[in-house]
Amino acid sequence: MRARVTWLVELRRLVLLVLLALALGWPLGYPFQVLSGLLLLLLLRWLVQLKRLRAWLDSPDVEPPEARGIWGDFYDRLYSLRRESREQQTLLQSRLDYLQDSLSSMQDAAVMVSASGAIEWCNSAAQKLLGLRFPKDRGQALLNLVRLPEFHRYFLAEDYSLPLQVRLGSEREQYLQFSISRFGNNDRLVFARDVTREARLENMRRDFVGNVSHELRTPLTVIKGYLETLLGQPEQVPERLQRPLGQMAQQAERMEALLRDLLWLTRIESVQPRERRESVNVGQLLRELQSELATSHPQRRVEFRVETEASVPGDLRELHSAISNLVLNAIKYSPDDSCVTVTWAEEPDGLRLSVQDQGVGIEASHIPRLTERFYRVDDSRSSRTGGTGLGLAIVKHVAANHQAQLQIESRPGKGSTFSLWFPRG
Ligand code: ADP
Repeated sequence: MRARVTWLVELRRLVLLVLLALALGWPLGYPFQVLSGLLLLLLLRWLVQLKRLRAWLDSPDVEPPEARGIWGDFYDRLYSLRRESREQQTLLQSRLDYLQDSLSSMQDAAVMVSASGAIEWCNSAAQKLLGLRFPKDRGQALLNLVRLPEFHRYFLAEDYSLPLQVRLGSEREQYLQFSISRFGNNDRLVFARDVTREARLENMRRDFVGNVSHELRTPLTVIKGYLETLLGQPEQVPERLQRPLGQMAQQAERMEALLRDLLWLTRIESVQPRERRESVNVGQLLRELQSELATSHPQRRVEFRVETEASVPGDLRELHSAISNLVLNAIKYSPDDSCVTVTWAEEPDGLRLSVQDQGVGIEASHIPRLTERFYRVDDSRSSRTGGTGLGLAIVKHVAANHQAQLQIESRPGKGSTFSLWFPRG
């Protein structure tokens, strides 16, 4: 409103000036010359004001020059705009400082990296854990300063869905866990955490399970040996002991399977992925599995459909154990007269190994927990079928070691499909 009034005043002034020029110039006989002269004076005044405006814009901290009319209005408006923008800048800066303060106080290393891979900022934990120096290293390529081949691969692969754990090659055993998130214009925030304690505990747990399983095997072999001897001479064993002895032999068998699976799981967990880089012909593996099943389960109908000859990089033994676990589960949890179908195919989303049965199926609520160790949908059914409860834990581990995803689809009473999706090579 005020601006409109000022504009009207200015317009009125201009009209008055023109009228005054004409009134003065007419009696003299030079109305247009006088008008031009006055307009020129007006132009000069505006030029002087523009010069003052420019000078004021160049010196940010002073108050605007005194002026009346439209120029005064201009100065006031510009001054308040400038004040608002300065207030917003201060607010933004304080928020940024707050954010950086919170990142700085973190125990974890935090590094902001630009889209081109250059360090923008890092906190003091990054200086300690990753050996970065800030602000000296600002603008340097992160990969030139963090010289860990696993981290290079992880950073460049641009798939940050899972964190990366790296063992540092120093004399003191140290483990770092990296995770990366994207923000802004493909900028990245790299976090690194010292997980030495957790990794040591995990190693201890694995070693403990491995050692116990290993140690239990010898006494179990002795017990099994005696049981077999006794059961092999039924005439020497009193009648009433024959059933208990048979059950003992069965349980000893189960225990042996359990120890075998536990040892196998420990082995899969401890071998580094780069140690299993052969090219595995899955079609060939399935043909071998088919002939093994023809001997072990001659009465069951298992159909194999090898639709591609694609190979996957990995470990033959691990893949054999994962696939046979899936097939044996399908056999275990479906009626004897039903069919199990194993398919190896190339799909738009990757390579798919699926095992489909027409068995009991699984309630949806159990599916997310199936791959936990010793998780069972129905304890009585599983112990009847002689399972160890470790089969799907093994499958999940093997899948993770091969960058594959385990997908479980099931309808109770209708059957289940367990699929392993491998990335295309
Ligand atoms: P288990 O040795 O008990 O079979 P797994 O880890 O192989 O252990 O499987 C875990 C549980 O998942 C099983 O106890 C069973 O209840 C369920 N399960 C696995 N495969 C199937 C299947 N094909 N159909 C129905 N249930 C299954």
